[in-house]
Amino acid sequence: MNHIYGPVKSRRLGESLGLSVIPYKYCLFNCVYCQLKKTTKFTLDRKEYVKADIVLSELTQFLRDCPDYKRIDYITISGSGEPLLNSRIKKIITQIKKVTTIPVAIITNSALLSNDKVRRDISDLDLILPSLDAITQDVFEKIDRPNNLSIKIEDIINGLIELRKEFKGNIWLEIMLIKGINDDLEYIRKFKEVIQKINPDKVQLNIPSRPAFESWVRIPTLQRVKKIQSILGKDCELI
Ligand code: SF4
Repeated sequence: MNHIYGPVKSRRLGESLGLSVIPYKYCLFNCVYCQLKKTTKFTLDRKEYVKADIVLSELTQFLRDCPDYKRIDYITISGSGEPLLNSRIKKIITQIKKVTTIPVAIITNSALLSNDKVRRDISDLDLILPSLDAITQDVFEKIDRPNNLSIKIEDIINGLIELRKEFKGNIWLEIMLIKGINDDLEYIRKFKEVIQKINPDKVQLNIPSRPAFESWVRIPTLQRVKKIQSILGKDCELI
């Protein structure tokens, strides 16, 4: 099985069965904290990079052969790149829901959520875990390093706001904190205003785990992370 991994114990999702729907390191970003190292294929083009039928047949076989699959908390669409680049994502979600009642989640860098069709494609999910590491273009470019500078953080934020209006499931917004770049408390107070507009069900604060891609990446102290959590309020948790 090449496109299914796990189930693995996930800090965010409990027992998670991963579905990889994109080739290794096809992405729109080259994040300083990416554990998959340098992005090898920058692209904005949505295509059926991994055939939906192959992913679905592997999943069906897994569910048939794994007697205790009901302990899985989520089937998580992710992989080693940005999963929303797969243009057949809607078909994959629809077909998963025909073969199992396990909730289905996706982990995304949010870059394509400004696209109406992308948001429609994922409307049947149970949970979306989008990332947002910055609220200004300069910080966005420092942390997430989009290869195509036509990608604007303002559009990503507006996409998240639209997603919240349209999507009936849960949204857990992840922020990766990088010392000296996005952990300034004044910046976090402005971040909070943006989060209030997005209105996710939860905010999850994360810090890079070693080895992060760039050796200069530094982690904020626990004291600073807790201060940030207290500023962002009761629906914010550390993961
Ligand atoms: S969006 Fe995800 S896969 Fe892409 S570079 Fe960032 S951390 Fe890596």
